[in-house]
Amino acid sequence: MMSQKRPEGCMVPRPMKIESVTDETYNVRTFRLRPTDGNGVEYHPGQFNMLYVFGVGEVPVTASSDPYQDDYLDHTIRAVGSVTNVMYKLKKEDFIDGVIDIVTASDFMDLTEGAQIVFI
Ligand SMILES: Cc1cc2nc3c(=O)[nH]c(=O)nc-3n(C[C@H](O)[C@H](O)[C@H](O)COP(=O)(O)OP(=O)(O)OC[C@H]3O[C@@H](n4cnc5c(N)ncnc54)[C@H](O)[C@@H]3O)c2cc1C
Repeated sequence: MMSQKRPEGCMVPRPMKIESVTDETYNVRTFRLRPTDGNGVEYHPGQFNMLYVFGVGEVPVTASSDPYQDDYLDHTIRAVGSVTNVMYKLKKEDFIDGVIDIVTASDFMDLTEGAQIVFI
């Protein structure tokens, strides 16, 4: 697949295809997502994405895969409400309509290296 250059700025939704679905418990599933644009994924431990289901809504979900690999992304989702109940029913080969990278605590730590921080 030819890779496409991603537009600057992290708020552009990025479609991903579901490569596999693993049942964890009766209402928790892990979805392995692969970007459809041919580019890799880059994230830090603890980073979350906004996952968007077209016409339903978006929810923050933490990455549950190993950040040292860069060609897929796992998200482990518990079905609790309107968006996660729809996501829970997605199947292999379906698409998560949007994955939006968000600056997170680990990025914040990078940005503030050397500074004194008070957590409240
Ligand atoms: C930084 C971050 C990371 C997260 N990571 C993960 C993750 O990795 N995996 C994961 O599964 N979740 C994660 N979450 C939680 C997830 O984002 C929330 O569960 C999400 O809001 C669910 O959205 P929803 O539309 O499915 O549920 P909603 O419809 O928003 O419902 C959320 C909760 O409110 C209750 N509720 C809804 N409507 C009502 C009502 N009218 N009256 C009373 N209660 C109601 C629901 O029963 C449910 O318990 C994370 C959240 C944050 C902030």
